[in-house]
Amino acid sequence: MVAAAVIATGVVLYWQQVRGILERDVKTHVAAAGEEAAADFNRLILTDQQVLESIAITVEDTYPWTDSAQLTEFLRRQTQHNYFKSLGVITTDGTVFLSSPRDFNPIFVTDVLTRTLEEGRYLSVRQADPADGEDVLVQSTVLTRRGRPIGALFALQQPQRYRPLLALSAMGNKGYSLIVRRDGVPMLGYRSMRADNIFDALANASFDGSMTLADLRAAVAAGKHALVGYRGPAGHLFLHFIPLQINDWYMISTLPTSYVAHQAQHLTWLSFLLFVSVFIIFSALIFYILHMRAYSNRQLFATAFVDQLTGADNFNRMCEQFPEKLAGLHGQAALIIFDINKFKVINDLHGYERGNQVLQRVARVLRENISPEEAFCRSTADNFIMLWKYTDRKSFRARLKNLTTQLRRDCTVEDSCLMIDVAFGVYEIKEDIPFYIMLDRAHLALENAKKMAFDKCDFYDEADRKRIVAEKQIENTMETALEHGDFAVFLQPKCDFATGQMRGAEALVRWNRLEEGIVKPDDFIPIFEKNGFILRLDMFILEEAVRLLAAWKVKGLKQVPIAVNFSRLHLNDTRYIPQMLRVVDKYDVPHNMIEVELTESVIFNNLDRAQNVISRLHKMGFSVAMDDFGSGYSSLNVLKNLQFDSIKLDKEFLSGFENNPHAHKVIEGAVSMIKSLGIQVVAEGVETREQADFLRHTGCDLAQGYFFSRPVPAAQFEELLKEEGSDSKPLS
Ligand code: C2E
Ligand code: CA
Ligand code: CA
Repeated sequence: MVAAAVIATGVVLYWQQVRGILERDVKTHVAAAGEEAAADFNRLILTDQQVLESIAITVEDTYPWTDSAQLTEFLRRQTQHNYFKSLGVITTDGTVFLSSPRDFNPIFVTDVLTRTLEEGRYLSVRQADPADGEDVLVQSTVLTRRGRPIGALFALQQPQRYRPLLALSAMGNKGYSLIVRRDGVPMLGYRSMRADNIFDALANASFDGSMTLADLRAAVAAGKHALVGYRGPAGHLFLHFIPLQINDWYMISTLPTSYVAHQAQHLTWLSFLLFVSVFIIFSALIFYILHMRAYSNRQLFATAFVDQLTGADNFNRMCEQFPEKLAGLHGQAALIIFDINKFKVINDLHGYERGNQVLQRVARVLRENISPEEAFCRSTADNFIMLWKYTDRKSFRARLKNLTTQLRRDCTVEDSCLMIDVAFGVYEIKEDIPFYIMLDRAHLALENAKKMAFDKCDFYDEADRKRIVAEKQIENTMETALEHGDFAVFLQPKCDFATGQMRGAEALVRWNRLEEGIVKPDDFIPIFEKNGFILRLDMFILEEAVRLLAAWKVKGLKQVPIAVNFSRLHLNDTRYIPQMLRVVDKYDVPHNMIEVELTESVIFNNLDRAQNVISRLHKMGFSVAMDDFGSGYSSLNVLKNLQFDSIKLDKEFLSGFENNPHAHKVIEGAVSMIKSLGIQVVAEGVETREQADFLRHTGCDLAQGYFFSRPVPAAQFEELLKEEGSDSKPLS
């Protein structure tokens, strides 16, 4: 529409421009054509005049024209030669000789003779040829004999001689000329005019510009050229007034402006066609470009939003359409992350080709299991994300179970069915939170689901998130905590059952966290074991213990060995023993004052390595204890191969011990067996006098537990050391 309007306006403006140019052009043309016609007319008349005069010489020679037949014959021949209509001689006494017999009215004869004799030559328009009534131009010259006029020679012009000159053929026959007298009376070509005077005909005309009829009259009266445009009843016309060299005659050339309009219209049409063609070409071009754009957009969409392997939506597409889809489900939705267990194994065992087939089939099954308002995508390798409608957990679980059944057997390749084990992490969408957070939550649930034995599906719950957040918090602050000395050593005494005297202590880490106060190791050690930070923390505790030993020596306090717990991660770390030596030797503390506690599970899981480390520790003079004996699946057989200095019976041995006669037997057996190997036995978690009495009775060497003392800060522990000398009773 806009383009059409622009084109229309363009055409109109263009038309006006062309018209203006053509108008100017036509004016010059009319002027030029008029001048030319006038010159031709002058030339014709003057030539004829000369011809007439040369004929006159011969005619004069035959005077006194006694042989009228001879004269008539001469005139007839000259008429033919010179294309006159007829020639005639009028004697001064009124006798007429003619080239061809025709009637002349006496007035005409008298008129021609009189005027010729008066003026020497004469030119006029005879209104009508007396013979045939046709308009005719009369031209004459005087005949003399010895300086005396003897008559007049006259010629009637053939009308076709001058008629073409009045037709302005150059203007496509649209224009014409007429001959008028200076006073405006028409002479020739006047039939086209409907008035007896050109100025009368122009009386009501409105001239272009400031020209008036009076101006025109004055210009013509003064014999000047004049070119005017005017609007009359016949439309707009141009008139060119050109003075002729004959009498006081003027030639007027006219051309209607419609000729210009016609030309302009023609040109405008041509231009319009050009415009339209250009428009069509441009439109086609634009259409083509848009089409190509749409095509490449589709291509782009395919690469940007479609998973090339399965043809399913990709992650980008999921992100893009998620808000809309969620709105469509009216908030009753769950986000599911779905993962194929051990997909890597399928690739490794059966090849990528087969792995791809599995993924393609999974995508197919998922597609068959969603409704149009739901969505799914393949996000990464074997990870799919689904947005499902969610009403209640029971029906949702049933739907997932059904999906699992469909997915379980993959028989896309004949005779090579694979069992597909899948896990789902589900986040029930209850809050308006960003998509990536929802994904995080579903991921969290997926991690839990993967740990399950069967029906691997877990729903995200807030406690999980809090735990993760707390873990993150711990990880974020552990480095600075170590630098700032927020980790502290607490010491728990190991006492002799027989005497109640303190024989050693275990170093137990505590974290002094501003907001939460003193935090127990169970809350952070597992995290540090996951991220490796435990390696540094253990060395820090060792250093704290060694420093204390050195300080006690300086202070002259009783020296008891300190047991330090070392994580299983040290067993795989070649820097472990050198680091340990460096720390201990820095304070010049005897190696036998340090005991290394390794938990039972660590030892049994890495027997060879444990054996190697233990023997190296022994060589360095450190003693080694097996911690938490009896908490796992200990093999008693192992004990004979590993050289432990002491074994710490796990707290669990004592739980429920009071009412359980079997527990007594088990403890007695374990203690006597360990002692028979020559290994010291330490009982952990001794909380009551009964437990202490019973353990003493079994022959257990040392006791550690709240009954004797809780783990205490170093300063408090030093107080206990000071009391040691005077008081040997069990501490409480
Ligand atoms: P663990 O090595 O078995 O340490 C003994 C745990 O039993 C200590 O818990 C101690 O406070 C607690 N305990 C002592 N007497 C009694 C009692 O009569 N009744 C009960 N119910 N418990 C008693 P804590 O200090 O919370 O330490 C927990 C665990 O954290 C330790 O178990 C040890 O495995 C680990 N741990 C502590 N400090 C370190 C450390 O510096 N490095 C490493 N790698 N692990 C450490
Ligand atoms: Ca321990
Ligand atoms: Ca223990």
